[in-house]
Amino acid sequence: MTTPSFGIKAAPLTPEPDDYIENGIIYCGKCHSPKQLLLTTPPMSGTLVPIPCACLKEQRDREDAAKAARGHRETVARLKRQAFACAPMRTWTFEHDNGNCPQMYLAHYFVEHWPEMAEKNTGYLLWGGVGTGKSFFAGCIANALLEQEVPIRMTNFAEVINDLNATFEKNEYISHLCHYPLLILDDFGMERGTEYGLEQVYNVIDTRYRIQKPLIVTTNLSLHDLKHPRDSAHARIFDRLLAMCVPIMFTGSSMRKDAAKAKLADIADNAAFTQ
Ligand SMILES: [Zn+2]
Repeated sequence: MTTPSFGIKAAPLTPEPDDYIENGIIYCGKCHSPKQLLLTTPPMSGTLVPIPCACLKEQRDREDAAKAARGHRETVARLKRQAFACAPMRTWTFEHDNGNCPQMYLAHYFVEHWPEMAEKNTGYLLWGGVGTGKSFFAGCIANALLEQEVPIRMTNFAEVINDLNATFEKNEYISHLCHYPLLILDDFGMERGTEYGLEQVYNVIDTRYRIQKPLIVTTNLSLHDLKHPRDSAHARIFDRLLAMCVPIMFTGSSMRKDAAKAKLADIADNAAFTQ
C-alpha cells in the first residue's frame, strides 16, 4: 500500500476471506461494494484509503440508531418518573383510550400543535362532573409529550398546597413547578380552599401566566361556578385560568361508573358460565 505524504497514513486493510480485488481495490465479499477509495487529487492521488463497505455502513447505522433509541427510552423513563406522583399514570396514553371520551380529539390536537400551544401560552381548563375522564385526558397529553422528551409535571392542588406548607423555600418550589414547559394541575375545587392555600395556588398560576408557560387544569366545578366565584380569592384564580386556558366541558357517563358496570357484567357472565 502507498504510504501517503503530509503525515496522513492510510490504515492498512486486511481483506476478509470472502473479499476480492478488482482493479487493485478490495471489495467486500458480502455486499460487493468497495472497501477502499482511490484518491485522485494531488498530493494524495494514487493513495488507497479504507472506507466502510455498504454492509459495514448499514451495521454502523443500525448500531447508532439502537444507541439513540436506548438514550431516548432512558430519557423518557426519567422524565416520566419526574412527571407523575404514581406509576399507573404512565399508562394513561392514547393507546389505552377506550374511545368513550368524545373530547379526546382535543387532546390529540394539543399534542400535534404543542409548539404553537407553548408559544401562545394556550392551555386547557377541563371542567365537568367527577369521573368523566378529565384526568385521563390530561394524562394522555402528558404521556404523549413526554415521549417527545418534553419535561412535564402532573400534580394536583392538594399536593401542591401540602408541599408548600411543608417547605420554607416556597419561591424555590414555585419556580421549580414553573420551569416545566407544561404543568398539569389536577382536581381544582373550592372545598379545600383555605385562604392561605388559595394564595399559594394563585402564586403558581400567576407565575406561569407571567412567564408565559401553559397550564392544564382539571376541575369538577362547572363553568358557571368558575365565572361566578364566591369570593375574590377564587375570582382572581379563575380570571387567570380563563385567560390562559381554553375551557373544555366534560359530560357524559362517568368512566368509573362504566368500569364498574363492565366489572359487574364480567361477574354476571362468569356466574352464568359456572351455573
Ligand atoms: Zn460489505
